[in-house]
Amino acid sequence: MHAAAPQPHQRRTLLKCLAVAPAWGAWPAWSQPQAALQNERKARYAQRLKALLQKGVLPYIDIESSCNASRVDIANLAAQMDVLGIGLMALSSDLGHGACTRGVRFDDFSAQTMTQFPDRFIPVGNGGQGPCFLDTPDEFLAAQTQAYQSGKIDLLGEYEFRHYPSPRQVERGQGEEIERDVHVPIDGPAGHQLFRFSHETGVPFQIHYEIEDALLAPLEKMLETYPRAKPIWCHLAQVRYIERAPRYTPAYVEGLIQRFPNLYWDTAFGNARSVYPLSGQRHSRIWAAQNSLHSAWRDLLVAYPQRFLAALDLGGDRMDKIAKDDADLRRFLALLPATVQQQLAYRNAWRLLYGEEASF
Ligand SMILES: [Zn+2]
Repeated sequence: MHAAAPQPHQRRTLLKCLAVAPAWGAWPAWSQPQAALQNERKARYAQRLKALLQKGVLPYIDIESSCNASRVDIANLAAQMDVLGIGLMALSSDLGHGACTRGVRFDDFSAQTMTQFPDRFIPVGNGGQGPCFLDTPDEFLAAQTQAYQSGKIDLLGEYEFRHYPSPRQVERGQGEEIERDVHVPIDGPAGHQLFRFSHETGVPFQIHYEIEDALLAPLEKMLETYPRAKPIWCHLAQVRYIERAPRYTPAYVEGLIQRFPNLYWDTAFGNARSVYPLSGQRHSRIWAAQNSLHSAWRDLLVAYPQRFLAALDLGGDRMDKIAKDDADLRRFLALLPATVQQQLAYRNAWRLLYGEEASF
């Protein structure tokens, strides 16, 4: 359905994006106080991961989940993390219409979660999605990058450049939800600002970018232009319409790995049975059957184990699915060699976020 003429909202979005001039200066490196803040966090996180490992649990860092800050029950979530043996979670708050209308462009949600539970939530910027990122991309990006420069957050995301309606939005119907059928050109002004910021500071950021042949060249161009940028392309091999993405294969992803040393993927995808309702297709292409991976995808993960990250992709409308999502993720990890499991579970995220190997 996205191939039709742009919706009014999309057109408005494109015009607003084009109106933003990429006129940023170079970014200074972190000063001592910012680095000290991150070091304090890191020490607490390391302690928690070590404690879980000592219990014989494989802890993981969920690099990509989001929530509605006004509805999420953090205490309950923290308790479930303990029950399930989840190490750390990069839980991002999505700014809704209310916050956006009030002029909020960064909400300090991560500071709240860290105050309540200082050893398990990684501070992350707000989700780059409508309405704030779509309607006021310059203000939104300025607030998020400022938060990073102040040492408040360790990564940015998830930025929705191309996002079809999610399966749950399709179930719920149209109306406001259809705004999620988003297309912000990744090589437009907002994309340049984001990639350039990461290129200059080294901060990782998550992108949601549906897999279509037509979208690959602009992404590759951005990766060439900003080789030190550290994007996490969320949802490895989640292809909603296979007919739109014949070029996207394990061999194609391997080519990207070889060309772009700072490009990562997260492994938040559905299980083998998951169907994308608008196409009727099983969109998690990595699966051969319920408990086995296609050998070419498995070989890729084993050959380049440092480039993939564990993620749950919890969302405001599915926080109650954490136990199922945890089980799905662990079922996937169990199909990989033990050393690769550790890399995906927490070692890669640790290296990406903190620039060093985990010593535990
Ligand atoms: Zn996503």
